[in-house]
Amino acid sequence: MAKILIVEDNALNIKLFCDLLAAHGHKPEAVTDSRNALDAAREFGPDLVITDIQLPHVSGLDLIRLIRKDEQLASIPIMAVTAYSAHGDEERIRAAGAQAYVSKPISVVKFAQTVDELLAAGSDTDPTGESPASWANEGDGGAGPSEPGGEEV
Ligand code: MN
Repeated sequence: MAKILIVEDNALNIKLFCDLLAAHGHKPEAVTDSRNALDAAREFGPDLVITDIQLPHVSGLDLIRLIRKDEQLASIPIMAVTAYSAHGDEERIRAAGAQAYVSKPISVVKFAQTVDELLAAGSDTDPTGESPASWANEGDGGAGPSEPGGEEV
């Protein structure tokens, strides 16, 4: 079980993401107003942040940059979800500091897979040396912590 913070202004997407994550045994919490996202993250202490990019007030890109600059939150993996996927968009999202990117309408399989990969990669960097939770080893044993090289889709 992982704590996952969702930042998304669309109620239907929130429901979809929360249902999906809960079905995979995770504990989701959603914020609809990105201005509250940093405070919510500090309180909730998520293992992963999933953020929409098209958000009023604070855009997803700005939010990613703010999280990366925040001492307490900087190391939390971030997955961006966006309907806008113009050429170069993924580069901008990754440059802002997100590890992964899923386009809307989401593929349920791809969404769940990306969440699992980010959580597994996060547990690999655990500095305690203690064996990470066993769920990290189930499923894809080969999810490496590094960037997916030059994959063309
Ligand atoms: Mn939106």
